[in-house]
Amino acid sequence: MNTTSLELKEIYNLAYSVLKKYGCNDENAEAVATTVTHAERDGSISHGLFRIPGYVASLKSKKVKGDSNPSKEFLTQNAIRINGDYGFAPLAIKVGIPALIETTHQHGVGILTITNTHHFAALWHETESLAESNLIGLACTAYKPSVAPAGAKKPLFGTNPISFAWPRKNNNPVVYDMATSTMAMGEVQVAARDGHKVPYGTGLNKLGEKTDDPSQIADGGVLLTFGDYKGSAIAMMIELLSAGLVGDLFSFEAKDEDNNDGGPARGGEFIMAISPQLIAGDNWSEHADKFFDQMKSLEGVRLPGERRHNNRKDTGPRNINLELVNKIKLLLSDL
Ligand code: NDP
Repeated sequence: MNTTSLELKEIYNLAYSVLKKYGCNDENAEAVATTVTHAERDGSISHGLFRIPGYVASLKSKKVKGDSNPSKEFLTQNAIRINGDYGFAPLAIKVGIPALIETTHQHGVGILTITNTHHFAALWHETESLAESNLIGLACTAYKPSVAPAGAKKPLFGTNPISFAWPRKNNNPVVYDMATSTMAMGEVQVAARDGHKVPYGTGLNKLGEKTDDPSQIADGGVLLTFGDYKGSAIAMMIELLSAGLVGDLFSFEAKDEDNNDGGPARGGEFIMAISPQLIAGDNWSEHADKFFDQMKSLEGVRLPGERRHNNRKDTGPRNINLELVNKIKLLLSDL
């Protein structure tokens, strides 16, 4: 793969300029470009610049409002709903998270439901920002169907990611963020683009057969959930929380509504925060650290989130796929 070296600031400017050019206002372009830049910084490359052509496609088709103005409503004293106004999710999240943090520090538990947004990013951004405020974070969202429930050969679930973050007083939070499919479709697309195989059983081809060829999965095939029927149950829970509870589209409904422009479908997101200080008491951090010490004492173990946090220490340039950068630059020069 040919790459080109870009400073983080250059990544931000590239993302920001192209989003502005295709109709985002300052607030939306800033929120999305920051999410994209943080993804590249941390090595979450399937949700960095790789997503820009999709974001642009949805602005061009007018599916997504580049000047969305998310609004906030308290459903109960500690349940907040953000109406994303049909924009990209990062701005809705930016509006909702400070209110969620405040209410959770007060009541011990807080719920944030986000509706009418288009989510195309990793979820650790939201859970980690809760953990950075000494709260436990949990977030999930559904997407268009590409994953077969256990036993099926046809898709019904989205890749339905879930993220969990545990705060630590003197350390980086422990954060996992994972699709409930064997892989995220973005990762499958990156593997197909770069000519890599994926583990056998990642998905089925058009004929319903297991394959290790990512292009066969991406092209009319179907992903499977991790862990067979156990992952399938978690993917089902995510549909229920992020669509049934939030009051937004299930994956199959999102598919019916979407214009297939290559950008993110409309949907909701469920976010929950818990205060360990209020629920567990003063010793919560030291107690959990003993558990993490036990985990780390086992040979071969690393904590989820560590890879990203290590990548983050490097403030230098990132090597970005050259073809992708040229594609984005072409979008910038296109009239
Ligand atoms: P990965 O399988 O790459 O990683 C899943 C999690 O496991 C990460 O938290 C990772 O931590 C951790 N991990 C990986 N290897 C180890 C290990 N050896 N030991 C301990 N922990 C480990 O992620 P996915 O491919 O499943 O998902 C990629 C992204 O796609 C996610 O960010 C998800 O939010 C996003 N996504 C977004 C969608 C949307 O609709 N917006 C849809 C589907 C997915 P670390 O980061 O430190 O490696």
